[in-house]
Amino acid sequence: MLGGGICGLAAGFSLAEHGEQVTLLEAQHFLGGLATTLRGETGAGFDFGPHAYHARNQRVLDMFKEIASDGFPARGKNVRIKFRGKYYKYPLEALDIAKSMSPLLAARAFADYTVESLRRRIRPRQLVSAEDWVVQAMGRTLYSLFFGPYTTKVWGVPPANLAASFAQHRIPHISLAKVVVSSLRKGRAKITGTEHRYAPLVVELFYPPRGAGLISQRMAERIKKANSGNEVCTGALATAIEVDGDRVVAVRYREVPRTEQDGQLALLATGTEEKGNPFVAARSQEQRIACDRVVNSIPLPALVDLLGDAVSDEAKAAARFLRFRALTIVGLRVKRPQALPAQSIYFTNKTFNRLSETRNYGGSEVCAPDETILLCDITCDVGDRIWNASADELGRICAAELAEEGFMKESELAESVVLRSTFGYPVYMVGYERAIDTLMKELLRFDNLVTGGRQGLYKYVDMDIASEMGLAMADHFLSGKRKAEAIGNIPYEDRVFA
Ligand SMILES: Cc1cc2nc3c(=O)[nH]c(=O)nc-3n(C[C@H](O)[C@H](O)[C@H](O)COP(=O)(O)OP(=O)(O)OC[C@H]3O[C@@H](n4cnc5c(N)ncnc54)[C@H](O)[C@@H]3O)c2cc1C
Repeated sequence: MLGGGICGLAAGFSLAEHGEQVTLLEAQHFLGGLATTLRGETGAGFDFGPHAYHARNQRVLDMFKEIASDGFPARGKNVRIKFRGKYYKYPLEALDIAKSMSPLLAARAFADYTVESLRRRIRPRQLVSAEDWVVQAMGRTLYSLFFGPYTTKVWGVPPANLAASFAQHRIPHISLAKVVVSSLRKGRAKITGTEHRYAPLVVELFYPPRGAGLISQRMAERIKKANSGNEVCTGALATAIEVDGDRVVAVRYREVPRTEQDGQLALLATGTEEKGNPFVAARSQEQRIACDRVVNSIPLPALVDLLGDAVSDEAKAAARFLRFRALTIVGLRVKRPQALPAQSIYFTNKTFNRLSETRNYGGSEVCAPDETILLCDITCDVGDRIWNASADELGRICAAELAEEGFMKESELAESVVLRSTFGYPVYMVGYERAIDTLMKELLRFDNLVTGGRQGLYKYVDMDIASEMGLAMADHFLSGKRKAEAIGNIPYEDRVFA
């Protein structure tokens, strides 16, 4: 098992419970990857952005509930967005967008939308970029008001550089008529079943009182308990995969130090980064584990690096094309019992993209009752101003912006921490499908190596789907089928592993 995020853990958990011997290698000194909860100076818990569990897959939800059987309460989703100076429900609904506009602007948006709808029917255009897709779906006025600027801020590139499939996957709204109907529905009735599987309309969220990381910790304990031969190794950076012909025969790894320092609770990285690699100085002796099967969940480009000369130059070039947007989460411990009127609030004009309060998700025990934890999600690039700023500096900036909104006083800030990852979001650049196609073909050769998860399959999925991918990889190995037989005819779009 390469990678101890929720995907690798779900795969290991399932294989271990079926009596298979499991060794899991995780580079960090903790488990859970992005789905973890790390402790600050008083023991208060900070997530990589709040990680609330939702599940459309009953098997995954049942697994989460069984693992956290002593407490996994559900709450109705209460997420907002500040748009044009006012707070609205998130995702933004057509009626709210209309309400936020002057009559003149609303008329222009509607005219644009009508023109695009007609054009779509009479003379459909080829949709290459996310910009093309959104403009044809919603019209240029709506695109320029929200989607264009917000996407550029979050992803660091304009939508003209992102693939059309990015928008298609993440934006379920195709017809304004459907959006209006959905706007009028309430609660569960909003779910029509036509939402994209990776961008569902979630109405209920589960969150363990002590923090999201509880599930990962428990899965790791269950893997070890299932068989005394099972090992869950932290601080173990996979450095190479040895291949004989088309079969993986061993994995090499190095022990690496913790990535926490000066208010940074962790820096997730693969060890293959040119910039921002926290393990670059680790020189411990490489160790080798012989194996008969490998489940990978570390980022896909790093997997290709680890395979070295066992893969073609074409595959190496394809892997280099894939890129991730990095992530800096600023965690604030604030001296007041509650701060926000919602679980999370999206902003278009602040340093952070999203602001969240773990307590409002159900994290009643993440910190002392008279304090609260606020998490500010900032997307960035490795080495940029945000990436290099200290926890103190970012804490002060975020606290000042929060005070401006009236959510706290700057004097109430008790602690600032940062959690970083070189891989926060897979960036679907125009042309990435070609690179993926090359990699999918190449990886089909290695029958005893499977890859899945948000990073391992390069899909922008949540914890439930990442776990589903882990379970699917375990099922596959338990089935004894050949990879080509199991997934050879399934397009990437529908694959849960490769
Ligand atoms: C800001 C943010 C908020 C989110 N909020 C939610 C939410 O509310 N609900 C939800 O369901 N999902 C949420 N998600 C998505 C969720 O984080 C992911 O879907 C899920 O955690 C992915 O799990 P994974 O195991 O596939 O990957 P990861 O968690 O990234 O795990 C990969 C693991 O591989 C390890 N690794 C990397 N390289 C090596 C190496 N060379 N050797 C050994 N180990 C290595 C890493 O350290 C890491 O632990 C959020 C994501 C982000 C970025």
